[in-house]
Amino acid sequence: MQCPRCLNEDDSYFYLGSKGWMCRKCISFKRVLILEEQDKPIGIEPKDDCGEYVLRYPLTSLQQIVSDQCAKLVLENDILIEAICGAGKTELVFATIAKMLKMKKRVCFAISRRQVVLELHQRLANTFKEAKVVKVCQGFSDDLYGDIVVCTTHQCYRYYQYFDCLILDESDAFPYKGNDVLAGIVRTSCKGHMVYLTATIDNYLKQRIKDKSIVHLQLNARPHGYDLPVPKKIIAFKGILLGILIKWIYEHMEKPLIIFVPTIQISKQLYYFLHLFFKCDYVNSKSLNLDEKINRFRKNEYKLLIATTILERGVTIENVNICVFMADHKVFDEASLIQMSGRVGRTFKYPEGECLFLCTKQSEQVDECIKKSQKANANKMFVV
Ligand SMILES: [Zn+2]
Repeated sequence: MQCPRCLNEDDSYFYLGSKGWMCRKCISFKRVLILEEQDKPIGIEPKDDCGEYVLRYPLTSLQQIVSDQCAKLVLENDILIEAICGAGKTELVFATIAKMLKMKKRVCFAISRRQVVLELHQRLANTFKEAKVVKVCQGFSDDLYGDIVVCTTHQCYRYYQYFDCLILDESDAFPYKGNDVLAGIVRTSCKGHMVYLTATIDNYLKQRIKDKSIVHLQLNARPHGYDLPVPKKIIAFKGILLGILIKWIYEHMEKPLIIFVPTIQISKQLYYFLHLFFKCDYVNSKSLNLDEKINRFRKNEYKLLIATTILERGVTIENVNICVFMADHKVFDEASLIQMSGRVGRTFKYPEGECLFLCTKQSEQVDECIKKSQKANANKMFVV
């Protein structure tokens, strides 16, 4: 037996209710009767002539190749676009979206985080001006159907077998990462092919590359053409690391600096220590005035910010340099280290910068991250 919605096959999750067999694994979304025909939403008919779009900047020649390949192959294949942080990965699928809309097909852009849904909705609405672009996430679920649906991965449960093409962004981010139920729900909302956009591939995608069941496009170049900054690693006792950190801050004080730390507690402790020497602040998932603190940092009111992984994604600060304190801590994995180091050198004005990993011991994930950055710089593009 298999749940038609979350694709669970583990018998221990199935139970016989008064109306029939049900799946306990995805029950928090809405009950489904496993052996019954599933309701498919009727939705709206895709509009004619809504596939035109305008780019803010022309694509680079490497971006263009990936974009063309994706649009060309998407009708027949699932596609993985593995692109380094700052490579402009959203733009890589605009041609694919346009092609789908011109064929009157339904497109979904699914993302883990609600905040990104709101931002991306705005961006797609500005890009595809003739199309109806709707956002569906917590707080926005009145209007469910458009030519392009931008939604959190959670909301895909509303669209059983509805989309002709589903673009899944940040499949390496919480809460999608490692969540079988969300993976199944996203998969079954799409009756056509999927496009995965990510900077770090997980085991599922690695397996699919191995099986040759997915087209793998890789882009390791940023639009400004500069190399990805390769993190430097220092291993020492914690007390010595603090000394190295202070020296590093003094040496880079003219630039905005983010110091990433593994836990909320360490963010506070390090703040109480560093504020004796520098004007600084700290943010973590408990910060009530997170946006305000980040805005003040952006405006250069202070140049040193201590942060947990809450800032590892989606934040672009011009000219920022990064230090990851205790980069070998178990809270960080390869994906989060890549995301944190990927904050450096993202803009055309400041395409370079420095990233330092301070560790208390050898760590495989730190070495992997460094190796991956070096490899990316040696090989800018890869198409299978
Ligand atoms: Zn299920």
